[in-house]
Amino acid sequence: MTQAEIIIVGGGISGTAAAYHLAGQGRRVTLLERGDLASMASGWTLAGVRQSGRHPAELPLAKAAIDRWTNLAVELDADLEYRQDGNLRLALTPEQTGTIEQIVSEGNAAGIPMEYLPDNAAVRAVAPALADTIVAASFCPSDGHANPHKTVAAFAAAAKRHGADLRTGVEVTALLTDGDKVQGVRTTGGDLFADTVILAAGVYTPRLLASLGIDFPLTISLVPVVQTVPMPPALAQVLGIATGGFAGRQEVSGRFRLTGTTIPWGEHGQHTAENVQPPANLVVDTIQQASALAPDLATARIGRVWGGLIDKTPDALPVIERLPEFNGLIVAAGFSGHGFCLGPITGQLLADLATGQEPSLPIESFQLRRFAAQSVTEALTLHG
Ligand SMILES: Cc1cc2nc3c(=O)[nH]c(=O)nc-3n(C[C@H](O)[C@H](O)[C@H](O)COP(=O)(O)OP(=O)(O)OC[C@H]3O[C@@H](n4cnc5c(N)ncnc54)[C@H](O)[C@@H]3O)c2cc1C
Repeated sequence: MTQAEIIIVGGGISGTAAAYHLAGQGRRVTLLERGDLASMASGWTLAGVRQSGRHPAELPLAKAAIDRWTNLAVELDADLEYRQDGNLRLALTPEQTGTIEQIVSEGNAAGIPMEYLPDNAAVRAVAPALADTIVAASFCPSDGHANPHKTVAAFAAAAKRHGADLRTGVEVTALLTDGDKVQGVRTTGGDLFADTVILAAGVYTPRLLASLGIDFPLTISLVPVVQTVPMPPALAQVLGIATGGFAGRQEVSGRFRLTGTTIPWGEHGQHTAENVQPPANLVVDTIQQASALAPDLATARIGRVWGGLIDKTPDALPVIERLPEFNGLIVAAGFSGHGFCLGPITGQLLADLATGQEPSLPIESFQLRRFAAQSVTEALTLHG
């Protein structure tokens, strides 16, 4: 019988950040990851680090996250390629300017300095590479982006330095319980016991909870991601659009990373290296959207194409909670396409929950039971 104090399921940014925080507090943590670290959303991601355009319930977390990001490289002693050069959300038609103006006024009201760029000249004064067809934009200078693989690797390395046990290639197949108490997990490498289990398993969180009779409503969609070869520096900001159907940025490496319109993941179930690849028409559409926004991208050489799965809840807000049904069971999932930015704070909150401390930020809005109410409304998901 193997015993840990706290088991974390999932080696994305949420799980590794939690491992770092818990191990840093002297807790005996074992993290189990079925593939490699950052092999799902935390590797597929655009990795925009954004507080603009967030739901009010998420804003305190996003603001706290930005505070962490500005010093995270020093804290983790690693280069994360974090750049705080802003986010531009573009209106492509006059009809879309209302949405953009609203994002600016809500941001400013929430204490996030944001600017409304009312015409093409103002937009191109900030980002000269953009097309002369763009009508207007919001500009949030404190947003930015980072390298997702380097960030997850840095959290994992820091967690290990504090003594965490991180195991890759180990799949959790079931949660072990005794009455209303969590006992541990069943894995492809045998049973592992602990009084506290943190589920940070992304799109596969619902299937682990389902075996305990807990319903976690997630709609999974597939996002195409196109990455160019390295190009000369042309764009410092992260781009998004009013409808949410495109986002892009230029990495520190010079590569552009572009995401396009999502489609339902449907009945595919378990993803594989092949079935998660995006269909050709979505790839073409992503490149066309990018070229319309930044004309130089029309002739860019494509380096790589991949698909990413997004875990969207009915209100596009996550679940971050110690579940009341089972003592010792904690969940962080359903980040709905914007959980990378929150990662450092998610880790901190999971550590609070696992050690029985008062959460350091308000998380009442992120309880799973809100979905049982009829009043949950569908929310627009903004990427980037
Ligand atoms: C294309 C795309 C673009 C995005 N753009 C942005 C953006 O610009 N900004 C932003 O903030 N967010 C963005 N997101 C969302 C963000 O990337 C995710 O919300 C975040 O990475 C979630 O991290 P996580 O650790 O919770 O989940 P994941 O990174 O999905 O990690 C879960 C891990 O659990 C493992 N796992 C699952 N089941 C098991 C099991 N049974 N046993 C063991 N391990 C298991 C998986 O292999 C995986 O590694 C984007 C996502 C995608 C896909």
